[in-house]
Amino acid sequence: MGEIIMKNLFANRVLNNDTSDLNEIFKNSANPENISFAGGFPDNRLFPDHALQAAYQDAINRGGQALFQYASTQGLATLRQKLAERMANHADVQVTADNIMLTQGGQQAIDLVAKLLLNHGDAMAVEGPTYMGALAAFDTYEPTYYEIPVDHDGMDIRYLRHTLKAHPEIKLIYTVPDFHNPTGTTMSLQRRKDLVALANQYDAIILEDSPYRDLRYDGTNLPAIKHFDTEGRVVFISSFSKILSPALRTGWLVADEPLIQALVNLKSATDVQSSSVTLAAIDSYLAHNDIDQHIANLNAAYQIKRDAMLNALDRYFPANVSFTRPAGGFFIWVVLPQGVDAKQLLKDVILPQAHVAYVPAACQFAHRKVTNGFRLNFTGLDPVTITTGIKRLGGILQHLNVD
Ligand code: PMP
Repeated sequence: MGEIIMKNLFANRVLNNDTSDLNEIFKNSANPENISFAGGFPDNRLFPDHALQAAYQDAINRGGQALFQYASTQGLATLRQKLAERMANHADVQVTADNIMLTQGGQQAIDLVAKLLLNHGDAMAVEGPTYMGALAAFDTYEPTYYEIPVDHDGMDIRYLRHTLKAHPEIKLIYTVPDFHNPTGTTMSLQRRKDLVALANQYDAIILEDSPYRDLRYDGTNLPAIKHFDTEGRVVFISSFSKILSPALRTGWLVADEPLIQALVNLKSATDVQSSSVTLAAIDSYLAHNDIDQHIANLNAAYQIKRDAMLNALDRYFPANVSFTRPAGGFFIWVVLPQGVDAKQLLKDVILPQAHVAYVPAACQFAHRKVTNGFRLNFTGLDPVTITTGIKRLGGILQHLNVD
């Protein structure tokens, strides 16, 4: 009873934030009896813990007492400088350190951009499906969502064009162009250009969320959407979570004026600054280690896991179930026959009988209406466990009763 009365005091903006289903899935995932493909976790064994320990030590030795003082909201200038160079070399984006702000993971950057732009009811476009953590952040600002489908070339730009024509009031377009969460697909070069042209035409901001960009197992990277930005409409965000460690809670945001200054002001109001100790440690890590070599090691390990999952899917999944073949990132998206509810199936059959978990489709769509799919993560488990889990899952899917 206490809980119900207390919830009457909650602001309207959080009333849609029902994460109970997800909480249950992740609780079940933690059970060691289950093989969980639900999380979006890097492999524990690949964290460079010794190098990070040395980096924290070095940062504290160099920084002395001053390191423990308050510091700038925008974040350590030498680290922003290194990231400006990385943006030029790895994303074809020419910016200065002044265009970069360090954030508490990419998640905070998403939240700040939403906080800056979205009034209650404002129109925004999101991919369908999309990153559920971004939906959780956006939900709090109560936007009106327009869902844009994703195909093997990323966001369907023709569909977006029609949507913008019908709803020119759309002010924000959120996309994960590289190894999309949850489908694993990458937006083609032409679509990147077309997207910027549409944003220019309809006076919209693009939020380019690209934490998986460097985790490519086949082929070569495309320039970031920000590369094609002619009017300062693209906010690019990325993160050290997937390439170094999520526990560092450090991401970065790249934007032009007036957006960057407004976002710095909002971060100041939110948490004053990120941890200067951690930022100095990352700066030291980058100065003394070859992060590109580290990323190459990650890619070699993750490629094996991706291939193990694709091989098992080819072998054990029935022909009426399709799945994506990502060239990088963390996830594979599975599409079940029409009419199947992946959430119900998980609860009733998959978890109790196969002891396997995934993230069902619905919570990854803004309108929560698509049910016949799920996301699989392949980075967190070893290849043998991946094969065992997919075999068990396939065993159930072989016997699906579809009308
Ligand atoms: N964007 C996407 C697409 C993600 O998948 C994630 C993490 N799962 C994030 C942002 C946020 O990650 P972090 O805050 O750890 O950088």
